[in-house]
Amino acid sequence: MVLPVYLYGHPVLRKETEDIEKDYPGLDKLIRDMWETMYFTEGVGLAAPQIGKSISLIVIDGSVLGDEFPECKDSKMCLINPELEVIEDMEPVGRNEGCLSLPGMSENVKRTEHVRLNWLDENFVEHEREFTGFLSRIIQHEFDHLLGTVYTDRISPIRKQMVRNKLNNLSRGKVKCDYRTVSAKAR
Ligand SMILES: [Zn+2]
Repeated sequence: MVLPVYLYGHPVLRKETEDIEKDYPGLDKLIRDMWETMYFTEGVGLAAPQIGKSISLIVIDGSVLGDEFPECKDSKMCLINPELEVIEDMEPVGRNEGCLSLPGMSENVKRTEHVRLNWLDENFVEHEREFTGFLSRIIQHEFDHLLGTVYTDRISPIRKQMVRNKLNNLSRGKVKCDYRTVSAKAR
């Protein structure tokens, strides 16, 4: 089932999420629905707050970007209760990022593209791995959602000023996009 996407301005996107246990009600279906929603909306990642659930759950699949960013090939992952550490051993890189919760926008965001990630997969098997390049950026972007952060928190004050009207419109539910959304106004 394709779920509606919660838009910028909704308080669920500003809450820090809770870790979950294996017996979280309806978890298998929730994960399936998040995959379906992510593919339907043509996203490369989706965090649970974006579908209105304040829990530490992320789905990622950047495979569609594999030609441009080889590290994104075969990157389908479900991340439960992830812990992330940015490894500051390279210069931050600025690249364009968009977000399903901020349709119709993208902005240059500077990040150090090297992380160490610890997580449980959909079977609650533990993993630890380092990621670099654009895939590490996708992971950082989605992990930010678990902390109540969105990418526009990370853009320059000047750019933030320039997109203020767009952000206000999103908060008011004034948005055109081809998937179902939930705005702060609709609460
Ligand atoms: Zn996002």
